[in-house]
Amino acid sequence: MSIIKLQDLYFKPYINKEEIAAIVKNLAYQVELDLPKGEVPIFVGILNGCFLFAADFIREFNNNCEVSFVKLASYSGRKSTENVKELVGINEDLSDRTVIILEDIIDTGNTLQQIYNIFRDKNLKQLKIATLFFKPDVFRKELPIDYIGKSIEDKFIVGYGLDYNGLGRNHPAIYQLSTQPKMKNIVLFGPPGAGKGTQAEFLKDMYNLVHISTGDVFRFNIKNQTELGLLAKKYMDEGDLVPDEVTINMLKAEVEKNADAKGFIFDGFPRTESQAKALDEFLSEKGEQINGMIALEVPEDVLVTRLLERGKTSGRTDDTDESKIRNRFNEYNTKTAILKDYFNDQKKYYGINGVGSIEEITNRITKVFDTL
Ligand code: AMP
Repeated sequence: MSIIKLQDLYFKPYINKEEIAAIVKNLAYQVELDLPKGEVPIFVGILNGCFLFAADFIREFNNNCEVSFVKLASYSGRKSTENVKELVGINEDLSDRTVIILEDIIDTGNTLQQIYNIFRDKNLKQLKIATLFFKPDVFRKELPIDYIGKSIEDKFIVGYGLDYNGLGRNHPAIYQLSTQPKMKNIVLFGPPGAGKGTQAEFLKDMYNLVHISTGDVFRFNIKNQTELGLLAKKYMDEGDLVPDEVTINMLKAEVEKNADAKGFIFDGFPRTESQAKALDEFLSEKGEQINGMIALEVPEDVLVTRLLERGKTSGRTDDTDESKIRNRFNEYNTKTAILKDYFNDQKKYYGINGVGSIEEITNRITKVFDTL
C-alpha cells in the first residue's frame, strides 16, 4: 500500500483490507448472537459512506434479514432556514420491527442523533446502532452505540466508502490524512552489470540524495566480518539472493541512519516482490513514497561481457566465474524482473536504454529524473 493523493491532500495507509474484513465479520457475528431466534432485522445503511460496509456486513450475516438505505437531506419545505433534516428512502412500515442502523463512522454523533430521533418515533420493537469506526474522543452524545467495529483516534480517514470531497470511496483499504511527501525516492533498476552503481554515483551528487546499494552494504559487512556479512557471504558467493527478511531489515536500518535525507536512490533493492511491498509499506508509514523506478535496459550478452571485464579489477568473486554470473541472471529473471510489472501497475516504471557511454546514459536518466 502506498500513499494516495485526493485533490490537494495526501493520505497514508492506516487499516488494510484484511483487517477491515476481520472487523466486519466480527461485527456481523456479534449482531447475530444478540438477536432472538427467528427475529428478522432490517439493516438500515446511512448513505453514502456505508455502502461498502453494508454490502460486506450483510454477506457475513447468516440469518434472514432485510436491507434498506437512507440518506439525511436538508428539508426543502417552508422553513429551510431552521436546518431541519429529513430522512429520504424509508418507505416500509417499520412498526414492531427490529431496526439496526449501519454507520461507516461515528465522530461527533450529530448526524446520527438526528437519524436516531426520526427512527425512535416510528414505533419500533427495537432500535440498535452498529458502526464500523467510532471516534470516542470527539463523540458528544448520550446515544447508545451497541456495536463498534473499531475505535480510532480522531484522524481524518478515507477509503472503503469514506470520502474526501467525494473522492477516495473506491479504495479497498482505509487511509489517514498525511502531509505532502518531502522526499524524492528513486529505485534504480536493472540486471547485474547494467550500470546502476556507476550511474547512482553521479545522480546522488546531482540531486543531493543518499545512495543505498544493498550489495555494497553486504560487501562492507563481509569485509568487516560482521555477523550479517558472514550470513550474506554464503549466498552472494553462489550468486543467490540473500533472504528477504535479512535484506529488508538491513535496508530499513540504512534508511533510518539517514533520517534527514532529501531522498534516496535505491540500487539493488527491491529485488523481490516482497521487498517491494515492504519498501512501499515502510515509506508510506513515514508519509513518503517511491517516485519512480528507472530501469536500465541492457541485453544479457552485453552484460556478461561487462561483468567478466569488471571482475578483472573489481575484486568481486561473484564477477569472475561465468556460471555464478549466469545464476545471478537466473535469480534476476525469476525473482526480480517481475518488479517491472509491479511498478508499471503504479505507473512508476521508466525504461531507459542502458547501452552507450556513461555520460549518454546519465543524460537519458536525468531527463526522466527531472520529471519525477
Ligand atoms: P549487487 O552488488 O547489487 O550486484 O549485489 C550483489 C549480491 O548481493 C547479490 O547477488 C545478492 O547475493 C546480494 N544482494 C544485494 N541486494 C540484494 C537484495 N535486495 N536482495 C537479496 N540479495 C541481495
